[in-house]
Amino acid sequence: MSSEKQLSLFDWSNNDDSPESTPDSDSDFSLIPTDAKIPIPSGTYQTMEEIAVHCNQCHRCELGENRTNPVIGRGNPQAEIMIIGEAPGQNEDEQGLPFVGRSGQLLDKILQSVELSSDDVYISNAARCRPPENRTPTLKEMEACKPYLLEQIRLVNPKIILLTGATAVKALTGDKRGITKIRGQWMEWEGRLCMPIFHPAYLLRNPSREPGKPKWLMWQDIQAVKQKLEELQGNNNSIDF
Ligand code: SF4
Repeated sequence: MSSEKQLSLFDWSNNDDSPESTPDSDSDFSLIPTDAKIPIPSGTYQTMEEIAVHCNQCHRCELGENRTNPVIGRGNPQAEIMIIGEAPGQNEDEQGLPFVGRSGQLLDKILQSVELSSDDVYISNAARCRPPENRTPTLKEMEACKPYLLEQIRLVNPKIILLTGATAVKALTGDKRGITKIRGQWMEWEGRLCMPIFHPAYLLRNPSREPGKPKWLMWQDIQAVKQKLEELQGNNNSIDF
């Protein structure tokens, strides 16, 4: 099948079918853009479940070969804060959920420290399938997976995006600076407010809470996030960088 034909099949918005007639998982195979060069148009998906159906069959990159489950997200799909990590690890791959191991437990504790719960956030990753040996996903793999991430951001429509670690920053914004240089800084991406923060796995390797150490810096950052969220909620969503 040519790329053009495959893309036209995938574009549900051009079909006469109503949104309610979303194809079921059995008929979705022909609609999946298996070639990563084929874009997935914005507005393709109406729900996270539709994204999950396609990711479960996706082979836009090689990570699709060995996954147990694609990892789409967890939390509240209407949350005001979206957290983006790197890629699933073993636990995530097995359970089909992001941040479920020790890193996830620490992330939950960090959120709880400023009275944020799983209802206040939606958590996803730059890549939806687990890289072998838990290696960092390549730029090519993250580019192949990015349309799904962009659709998730569009659906959640968060006020704030937190990018955990340099890989997540690079995947979304293209900024290649080291995380120690840019963590805690507000930045704008596509009109949205983003903050790079340390990945919880990094904090597990650096447990000191002394001032200036990563855990202490994370505490400063998450407080700044909570404060900004309250400002946005109180100021009719206006963004002040
Ligand atoms: S990582 Fe993303 S692009 Fe690659 S196969 Fe999985 S869902 Fe598809």
